[in-house]
Amino acid sequence: MKPVLALIGRPNVGKSTLFNRLTRSRDALVADFPGLTRDRKYGTGDHHGRGYMLIDTGGLSGEETGIDEYMAKQTRAAIAESSAILFLVDGRQGLTAADEQIARDIRQTGKPVFLLVNKIDGVDADQASAEFYALGFTEVFMIAASQGRGVTSMIDDILDHLGAEFEDEEEQEDDGSIKIAFIGRPNVGKSTLINRILGEERVIAFDQPGTTRDSIFIPFERDGLRYTLIDTAGVRRRRSVDEAIEKFSIIKTLDAIQRAHVVVMLVDAHDAITDQDAHLLGLALEAGRALIIAVNKWDGLESDERDWIKQQLEVKLPFVLDFAEVFFISALHGSNVGLLYAAVKRAYDSAMLKVATSRLTRILEMAVQQHQPPLTRGQRIKLRYAHQGGSNPFRLIIHGNRTEYVPDSYTRYLTNYFRQTLKLTGTQVRVEYKTGE
Ligand code: GDP
Ligand code: GDP
Repeated sequence: MKPVLALIGRPNVGKSTLFNRLTRSRDALVADFPGLTRDRKYGTGDHHGRGYMLIDTGGLSGEETGIDEYMAKQTRAAIAESSAILFLVDGRQGLTAADEQIARDIRQTGKPVFLLVNKIDGVDADQASAEFYALGFTEVFMIAASQGRGVTSMIDDILDHLGAEFEDEEEQEDDGSIKIAFIGRPNVGKSTLINRILGEERVIAFDQPGTTRDSIFIPFERDGLRYTLIDTAGVRRRRSVDEAIEKFSIIKTLDAIQRAHVVVMLVDAHDAITDQDAHLLGLALEAGRALIIAVNKWDGLESDERDWIKQQLEVKLPFVLDFAEVFFISALHGSNVGLLYAAVKRAYDSAMLKVATSRLTRILEMAVQQHQPPLTRGQRIKLRYAHQGGSNPFRLIIHGNRTEYVPDSYTRYLTNYFRQTLKLTGTQVRVEYKTGE
């Protein structure tokens, strides 16, 4: 599990500015879940290959009434999920009574606290920070979030500090198995599905103690293949259905998506696609993971209901249906659950496929021959060769001239051409162009 850092502080001290700066990297995932997490914002950051998660909170005013009480609740929830607190104060405004109140509150949590004196641009940093030492925190950083000043070295130090606890995580993971994450809103049936799968398959070893934060990795075998199921649902320590909302964690979902090869997204057939489903799906898509859609609770529906759901999928997920397989299952009764294994394997194989430059270039030539790129100002766009830029998602780098003029429709044509020729299912194909030689 990566360290989870919660940004805490009064409103306007610069929390979201810092959040945006830290999650700006290319692979960052940002989740904003109205209605579910209520004003907590989640993101991932990467610092020279060391990953971490970030939770932004609305802010604490130091007074807990009305809207402030509500925000305080959110903040406490964020703190509970976090491994450390980044406590922001405003270096220009100076120490306030609210800062002191927040300092008292967060000290009681027993979590490591890093004090960030923000907005030190254009002021004397030492002078600005002096009075904040009175708060009694030993780890103090002076930063200007909006300029990026001090931010990199701060994260470096914080991750070093937390390092020992989080170090050997990667090793345990790489055992060559196909890693599957089942994601979905509370109550879509994740636990039911996971229990069914584990009930049928041979679980190789399972004695990981769960904490509230960690996802649990459960290895199992089927038809001679090794899989690892990443349990975000907390199947094994669940006491009642009422705990559903409480145990649902965006942090766990984000973490699982990033660690998985293949994401199986569950939706509830009774609701078709809700906003929350769309948000979760957005995370999986942004991460580029191989994807399968499982529409659960297919049992007991009338045929007109089934038609309606299928139609909803087409309306709401056209882009996803271009590449992701959809299954209509009943986790409760087991129908069609068996189909998921082969689909996971297909998606995995597609997502991890390695294709030689010579073959990709040949496919590119065939595609161009069948359908030329358009003329731009009387000149033709030249696409010369293609090589693979990466796996999961399948990334295709196409070299040529004037590639900045390639219209989206032509890129879609190429994407589909490569997808069909290489028989890729379940994985996105991402095309990038390089102009020059
Ligand atoms: P939040 O309410 O704690 O999330 O605060 P915001 O990130 O929304 O920032 C509040 C205001 O402070 C905005 O106008 C930011 O542009 C400004 N701000 C944030 N960081 C800095 C900084 O490092 N220097 C200066 N001068 N302004 C900053
Ligand atoms: P989770 O929160 O995503 O882990 O969802 P659960 O597995 O706890 O399921 C939530 C509720 O949906 C429970 O009452 C399950 O019995 C029910 N459920 C799960 N799968 C199915 C299904 O395939 N059909 C029906 N009818 N109910 C289901």
